[in-house]
Amino acid sequence: MESITRKPRILLIYTGGTIGMVRNAETGALENFNFGRLLEQVPELRRFDFEIRTHTFEPPIDSSDMDLTHWARLVRIISEGYEDYDGFVVLHGTDTMAYTASALSFMLENVGKPVILTGSQLPIGQLRTDGKENLISAIEIAAARRPDGTPMVPEVCIYFKEKLMRGNRTTKINSEQFNAFRSFNYPCLATAGIEIRYNQAAIRRPNNDKPMIPHYEVDPNVVVLSLFPGIQRSLVHAVLNIPGLKAVVLRTFGAGNAPQLRWFKEELKAASEQGILIVNITQCQSGSVHMGLYETSLPLLDVGVVSGYDSTPECAIAKLMFLLGQHLPPEQLREMMNSNLAGEITI
Ligand code: ASP
Repeated sequence: MESITRKPRILLIYTGGTIGMVRNAETGALENFNFGRLLEQVPELRRFDFEIRTHTFEPPIDSSDMDLTHWARLVRIISEGYEDYDGFVVLHGTDTMAYTASALSFMLENVGKPVILTGSQLPIGQLRTDGKENLISAIEIAAARRPDGTPMVPEVCIYFKEKLMRGNRTTKINSEQFNAFRSFNYPCLATAGIEIRYNQAAIRRPNNDKPMIPHYEVDPNVVVLSLFPGIQRSLVHAVLNIPGLKAVVLRTFGAGNAPQLRWFKEELKAASEQGILIVNITQCQSGSVHMGLYETSLPLLDVGVVSGYDSTPECAIAKLMFLLGQHLPPEQLREMMNSNLAGEITI
């Protein structure tokens, strides 16, 4: 990784979401503000000795409207600016931020520069906004360098309420409080108090012998099937027989357990035989799947279900979409799903 001595140059990409909204004084409704006029809302940014340029999605979108074309658009903006900028800050609605962060961690393969997603629960123009601190700290982190001049955090991350988390380990856990995101299965990469303290041992480093490889193709033919006591065969059958389906994220109980009903095993076996990849993740927020630990997960192993280890649901979906977009042969798809590609699982 080349070391940089000039002023840090940051690209701030505004996709939409609460952070970039202002309340219309007449109607009381939240509206997007002209992001080119960001400095009026956050004059504090002038105090950074950084070059900050902005790029705005036109029109800005609520993150519930984020789709796979928007992920590819972000990859294009970042890869086109990759040589010019030292770091990227992506302002994004909080609702689907963990999905976008997970997807970018795979689509920007071997990323060597900081890509920090952030947003807020209250608009930046509001008195009690959490947006200013989130934005200012995210920019500072994106520009931070190690003593040798290389980026401090060359990863796709989410910064929110004093915590920097690996993007593909993060989940939105609260729809109201400022402390809205958590990384249950991996330590924070930094915490921001009086100083920003980096957890160097937890930060991933790129392979410096390889470039960053942008990927644009993702395949949406994935479904999430969450088990519950009393689940009926007709429901499982209908889900596993969706036309064009290629992969299933199966949300099981505890350490990866499922009912031992014969029909359940038959349905999974039939889906597997049709080439549908089934990945087992737990419904628990924290901890990992251990297939084979209990008798109740043995049938899943028998029918070729693969472990999703301690993956978040958001990450399991994004990883499958990414891998399916690579058109890999079935064995390689299974092998990649079982590999730690971007720090997303603990094996
Ligand atoms: N609905 C908004 C969004 O995700 C909420 C937010 O920005 O926090 O775009």
